[in-house]
Amino acid sequence: MTRVLHRSGAIPPVAVRGEGIYLHTAEGQAIIDGSGGAAVACLGHGNRRIAEAVGRQAASMAYAHTGTFSNQPAEDLADIILHDEPGGLSRAWFCSSGSEANEAAIKLARQYFLEIGQPRRYRTIARRQSYHGTTLGALAAGGNMMRRAPFEPVLSPAHSLVSPCFAYRFKHDSESDAQYLDRLAAELDAAFQRLGPDTVTAFLAEPVVGATTGCVTAVPGYFKRVREICDRHGALLILDEVMCGMGRTGTMHAWEQEGVTPDIQVIAKGLGGGYQPIGGILIHDRIVRALAHGSGGFLHGQTYQAHPVACAAALEVQRIIREDRLLENVQAMGRRLETGLQERLGNHRHVGDIRGRGLFWAVELVTDRATKAPFDPELKLNERVKREGIARGLATYPMGGTIDGRQGDHVIVAPPYIVTAADVDAIVERFGDAVDAALAGL
Ligand code: PLP
Repeated sequence: MTRVLHRSGAIPPVAVRGEGIYLHTAEGQAIIDGSGGAAVACLGHGNRRIAEAVGRQAASMAYAHTGTFSNQPAEDLADIILHDEPGGLSRAWFCSSGSEANEAAIKLARQYFLEIGQPRRYRTIARRQSYHGTTLGALAAGGNMMRRAPFEPVLSPAHSLVSPCFAYRFKHDSESDAQYLDRLAAELDAAFQRLGPDTVTAFLAEPVVGATTGCVTAVPGYFKRVREICDRHGALLILDEVMCGMGRTGTMHAWEQEGVTPDIQVIAKGLGGGYQPIGGILIHDRIVRALAHGSGGFLHGQTYQAHPVACAAALEVQRIIREDRLLENVQAMGRRLETGLQERLGNHRHVGDIRGRGLFWAVELVTDRATKAPFDPELKLNERVKREGIARGLATYPMGGTIDGRQGDHVIVAPPYIVTAADVDAIVERFGDAVDAALAGL
């Protein structure tokens, strides 16, 4: 019996305790949280320092409305992330989730153009097979066809989609990387022309695509081409780093590895590591100045924005990442995870692609490596891998619809930044066994 409306019809096991990389269920099973949920639990579970920071803040002052007050955790959190103004980002705005953060980014882009006297701009362009959130604005802007489908009639037509940069699936065999980039750049430019370049506020993309396609990195040079096109048409570049940011790919910001900087960066998951619900946007100084010289503020507010307890949790998470030099561990353990996955699954007849960066990896499953043909979606292979993983004490993050929202299966592993070599080896072993068992059960 449950009174909770769960995600699917089934009642999932109850998780009662978390410790390090492990989650423990009410039935007594210890499960390695090999994906930190949805790439959230970047410091693992049960961290006393963070728990105490949360407790201290809740006891000293849980809430003060941001219309009247600032609070120190929010100030300190913004400062630890932005003190050196990475890429020219100079202000932060915090909310409670990635979806809310993308809503804020879309609205801020629109407001920026009102402030600088370009009121015709209101559209966004994003990519198919992307995800920017579940609320109506973020869902409408994004290209997760499976999640959009039931709600299409209520999604705003202000948002358009172009092709993703997804070489394994969509680069033609006859094409070089340069030719593929030319094709994608031409398509994006044509979208601007079709919509009217002076009506577009922003291009919105995940630097490493998360759950929708499974850790897809762009062909080198892609984001530079995108940045050039945005600049040429006077549009902003919004990079959604909700899943791939805050250290997950081995640098604090995923864009550092692409040679571009965003006008607005969207963050969440690894920001607070799951210790509190928190997301946010990081805003380029150019936009901050436009607001300062214009209406004076951001025309957008939420009751729980910059929540002191959430900010205190995220602040402690960010301090630990820096003090313990955890990005070095993400890089080193990321290399070990990549090598381990390649050794265990690289020659597997049903593993089409192993891809990712840092501690953010996915395996895409195919019936045939030569043709890259996907499995019948009705088989729900990705969910079977998840189930077999749980049976072996490993939680992963599976998704179907890798190719077009319906076809394709992939499974993500995204362990906490604190993993040891032995942890990584255990994850690879259990994951490999789960893939084999899922396929054997078809
Ligand atoms: N953007 C990206 C890239 C995501 O991966 C997600 C969640 O998976 C979101 C936005 C939405 O975040 P949330 O589920 O916290 O609303």
